[in-house]
Amino acid sequence: MKLLMIHVWNADELAYRNTFSGLMAYPSLTLASIIPLVPESAFSQIDIIDEQTQRVNYDKEKYDIVMLSFDTASAVSAYRHAKAFRKRGAYIVGGGYHATAMPEEAAKYCDTVISGPAERAVPAFFRDYLAGSPKPFYRDTNLCAADYPVPQRKKIPMHGKLRIPAVIADRGCKNACKYCAMRTMWPSDPRPIKAVMEEIRSLHTKMLIFYDPNFFQNRDYAIRLMRALKPLHLLWACTATADLGNDTELLKIASDCGLRAVVIGLESMNVQSLKSVAKQFPDADRYKTLVANIHKYGIAVNGCFVLGLDHDTEKDLRKLPDYIEYLGLDLCRFSILTPYPGTRLYKEMEESGRLLTKKWNLYDQHHTVFRPKHFTPEQLNRIYREVSRDAYSWKRIFRRLKSSPWRHKPYLLIQLGANIGFRYLGIDKRRTS
Ligand code: SF4
Repeated sequence: MKLLMIHVWNADELAYRNTFSGLMAYPSLTLASIIPLVPESAFSQIDIIDEQTQRVNYDKEKYDIVMLSFDTASAVSAYRHAKAFRKRGAYIVGGGYHATAMPEEAAKYCDTVISGPAERAVPAFFRDYLAGSPKPFYRDTNLCAADYPVPQRKKIPMHGKLRIPAVIADRGCKNACKYCAMRTMWPSDPRPIKAVMEEIRSLHTKMLIFYDPNFFQNRDYAIRLMRALKPLHLLWACTATADLGNDTELLKIASDCGLRAVVIGLESMNVQSLKSVAKQFPDADRYKTLVANIHKYGIAVNGCFVLGLDHDTEKDLRKLPDYIEYLGLDLCRFSILTPYPGTRLYKEMEESGRLLTKKWNLYDQHHTVFRPKHFTPEQLNRIYREVSRDAYSWKRIFRRLKSSPWRHKPYLLIQLGANIGFRYLGIDKRRTS
């Protein structure tokens, strides 16, 4: 029997990949985490495709099972693959964020849909399939971090990707931002620190990225993990919330054990907008102080902003590039507010008739798929493109590098690479409908 596993990417997104995209291409943990759940002895051949850097060829091999992992923006591409491989006789299994949020829809294209965490559901599917009676749906809601398999990264093609490995310690977040797709997928359930450390040691790396959606959300756990990390002398990065800047004890411990960059969802400089999406820390007036506090500990800040929140005005959004300089951010990232299926925001927008389309390939954070309060969708698309272009002008990139806490360190080159990667994301070229 032959098995093909595909991490599906939105075909529109792939069309804009270029030399610089590799600067932003993080290694996928999704497939690496599923491989250990597959009964390898049952298959004569297992092929793995990460569409971020590889192309799917429907006729290269005849597969018995094709497993597709996809998010909402990739769902259209995933369904196209499903139809093509089904026509060639394969049994189709779908999983990932979108299959979890929309299992009935995914079932139109997949013979089996796996929703939620894979740790128990994937082995259960293979047991049933090999016994001749696979079910149409598998859903495990009892996440248990101790079951999390050690990802088999060596089997994932790395060509064109950042070589810095990624690890997850806790997939959940205690906050409840209305638009967050991540928290609808995973409850907080930190892995045993011993298991996380064994995995990190096995990577033989000096740099690391934590993929946890909110690394410091469980403060005690984060401190214990950081103390365990310290003897390894790693440099690492993670996500955090803005209130990290309030916690000097945590910042000191983090900096001492190698934290050098955080990604923070600042989202908006408009307090009302932040409150409208239930942002846990809506105190935008303190962002400058908090960023400065984080910088004091030699930690760079990548601030992410969401455009199109209900209290955003055009004036607010056009001020963002200047505001980012005022805050002293080292990197910035923009996205258009996107109501992902499964989130509270999606439910609210659907019920109030504000969703404009369910063409999932447009749910990529680069297109307006809902009716904004203060703009037409076309205006918001245009503002997004112009703000991105302005914030990633060479002039602003060099100013960011000049004021960076990394400016006297060799890893300033990483910041330069990331800024260039964002500059060439192809935002200007994307079609708008
Ligand atoms: S803090 Fe971040 S990870 Fe947590 S719910 Fe909000 S957006 Fe999601």
